[in-house]
Amino acid sequence: MKLKFIEDEENYIKVLIEDTTPDFVNAIRRTLMADLPKLAIENVTIYDNTSALFDEIIAHRLAMIPLPTDLDVLVPRSECSCGGEGCPNCVVHYTLSKEGECTVYSGDLKAEEPSWAVKDEKIPIVRLLKDQRIILEAEAELGTGKEHAKWQAVSGAGYSYYPEIEITDECDGCMECVKACPRGILASKRGKVVVKNIEECNLCKSCSEVCGKNA
Ligand SMILES: [Zn+2]
Repeated sequence: MKLKFIEDEENYIKVLIEDTTPDFVNAIRRTLMADLPKLAIENVTIYDNTSALFDEIIAHRLAMIPLPTDLDVLVPRSECSCGGEGCPNCVVHYTLSKEGECTVYSGDLKAEEPSWAVKDEKIPIVRLLKDQRIILEAEAELGTGKEHAKWQAVSGAGYSYYPEIEITDECDGCMECVKACPRGILASKRGKVVVKNIEECNLCKSCSEVCGKNA
């Protein structure tokens, strides 16, 4: 099996996998979503909440905030040497204290160490009116996507077949396929059809549908 990274951004990755089967690639996709450990808020202690939202809704929203995960430092709480009591190896603490009038954002969640600070600081949690208050503590721990979506480490993981376009000797150069391709992958070059940017092809088959030689 051959693996090649086509795009490798901070929040996005595109990989070409060769010499494999769709079921194997799908197994990788499912593993990415269900089995990768990630940090998320699991327990919330609410000291004061006079906002319009119930404690449970606030706790749910906090849990869905993506937190940085360092697997060199953290171990799952159930496997930790502390026996699940909660220690710096398995639990990360956050606090939130805010009074209105304002909007409470994910960035208002203060981590015990700067290295655990929330990456995306602009996720709204609740709107506070004048004199409304929210004070809470939260514990984050490792989990996996198969337990709850808050622990899902990736989103939008998918795979597709690698496109192959074959132009046979029967081509009479009518260029109907070039006009039909919605993504502009086919071009005319000296009376012949040529393929450019094949990875942009989404296998819509518009080209083969309009081809008179492909009945
Ligand atoms: Zn521990």
